[in-house]
Amino acid sequence: MKVKKGDSVLIIAGKDKGRTGKITKALPKDFKVLVEGINLRKKHVRPKKEGEKGQVVDIPSVMDASNVKLICPKCGKVTRVGYKIDKDIKNRVCKSCKQVI
Ligand SMILES: [Zn+2]
Repeated sequence: MKVKKGDSVLIIAGKDKGRTGKITKALPKDFKVLVEGINLRKKHVRPKKEGEKGQVVDIPSVMDASNVKLICPKCGKVTRVGYKIDKDIKNRVCKSCKQVI
C-alpha cells in the first residue's frame, strides 16, 4: 500500500470528497484505511447505567485506500508515490519534490 498510518491524505471519492485527514489506521491486507474524521458513521450507544440516556456518536469507518491520495509532508502537494531503493532499503519518494517521505 502506498499510504500508511500517520500520513495526511486527500479524499478523492465518496461523501467526504475534497476533505483532508490523517490516517489513524492502515489495513494493508484489506487495502483499507481509517482516516480521522472521515467517513463517519452514526452509531447508537446504549446507556451503560440505568437512568442514563443512550446517545448517537460518530465513529469513522474504514474506506478503500484507493479513495485517498497522499499529501506530501515535505512539499504539501497532493502527490503520487514512487520508490527508491537505497542500500536494500525501499524508500517512499514524493513524485513532485523527489524527497524521501
Ligand atoms: Zn513532495
